[in-house]
Amino acid sequence: MTATHSTRMLILGSGPAGLSAAIYGARAGMAPIVVQGLQPGGQLTTTTDVENYPGFRDVIQGPWLMEEMQAQAEHVGAQMMWDTITEVDLSQRPFRLIGDGGTVYSGDVLVIATGAQARWLGMDSEEALKGKGVSACATCDGFFYRGKKVAVIGGGNTAVEEALYLTNHSHDVTLIHRRDSLRAEKILQERLFANEKIKVLWNKTVEEFVGEGEPAGLTALKLRDTETGEISSIDVEGGFVAIGHSPATDVFQGTGLTLDKDGYIEVTPGTAKTNIPGVFACGDVMDKHYRQAVTAAGTGCMAALDAERFLAEVDFEAITEAAE
Ligand SMILES: Cc1cc2nc3c(=O)[nH]c(=O)nc-3n(C[C@H](O)[C@H](O)[C@H](O)COP(=O)(O)OP(=O)(O)OC[C@H]3O[C@@H](n4cnc5c(N)ncnc54)[C@H](O)[C@@H]3O)c2cc1C
Repeated sequence: MTATHSTRMLILGSGPAGLSAAIYGARAGMAPIVVQGLQPGGQLTTTTDVENYPGFRDVIQGPWLMEEMQAQAEHVGAQMMWDTITEVDLSQRPFRLIGDGGTVYSGDVLVIATGAQARWLGMDSEEALKGKGVSACATCDGFFYRGKKVAVIGGGNTAVEEALYLTNHSHDVTLIHRRDSLRAEKILQERLFANEKIKVLWNKTVEEFVGEGEPAGLTALKLRDTETGEISSIDVEGGFVAIGHSPATDVFQGTGLTLDKDGYIEVTPGTAKTNIPGVFACGDVMDKHYRQAVTAAGTGCMAALDAERFLAEVDFEAITEAAE
């Protein structure tokens, strides 16, 4: 028989956004169920040092922080489910979602905190040196490269913003782009070209991230010229892959939830409310600008408070009957 779990507040995702929503939701008496997904604890479980989450003077470890958040959420009454949602029906009330193994979850309100994953180049050498010089987040890791030579790979807004941000820490930033012009907005390009700490290498792709030492750390990038095929190399200690992010919203395609052109969930500005009453979104899945643990946690709090007010103000039984 198919198991069914019903709750007032169903949360998808167990990163900082989902767990913050769970803490606030549990403390407001909504007995949240958190479906954790394939990456319990979210993106911070894939990193080591975190230096910018408020409250900790010393460097903390990402996986430890997420264990603490989960323990706090469980302590106040949230229930964790180790499952991934593969089917979503937002046309009926309560909302009905189905997990990987067929388990049904129903929630009077739904908080979506499924995050976004950085896109990578997909090379073995990149994988081997992630967290050892290779990163996808300048705001997170730029500080660790103070006074060092770094490179940014990409040509869109993210890449230009990352390069500009890195000049706060490095006097030698190289932007590597596979074409001869950038896709980034003109105003960003103007700032980039005016910044004497940044140089651009055109028509180059990364052939290999080169690491040396024990433990290995990034020391150079091997590059290929896209026009001539010529191989060259630049010495850098930090390589920032900035080729965009993919919000985890595939499962919401066709559900009536409004997504923007890049697949991010749209919310009413200043709130966590989506276009569907009772469905809220928080964290990286609705935020393409900040993408930080603390902003994800902040919007998780907003989602729980918006959800609580929704349940208090709305005649839920009337909505449910109308939908039946
Ligand atoms: C290597 C790295 C280092 C970073 N360092 C820092 C740092 O130092 N400081 C900082 O502030 N930020 C840092 N960040 C960014 C930070 O991790 C993110 O901004 C933050 O984790 C976003 O939180 P979130 O809860 O929105 O999403 P995520 O952390 O991405 O969590 C998404 C959750 O949704 C779940 N999920 C996805 N799809 C489904 C589904 N279909 N069903 C159920 N669950 C699902 C996943 O399993 C996961 O639990 C770093 C990111 C990376 C990748």
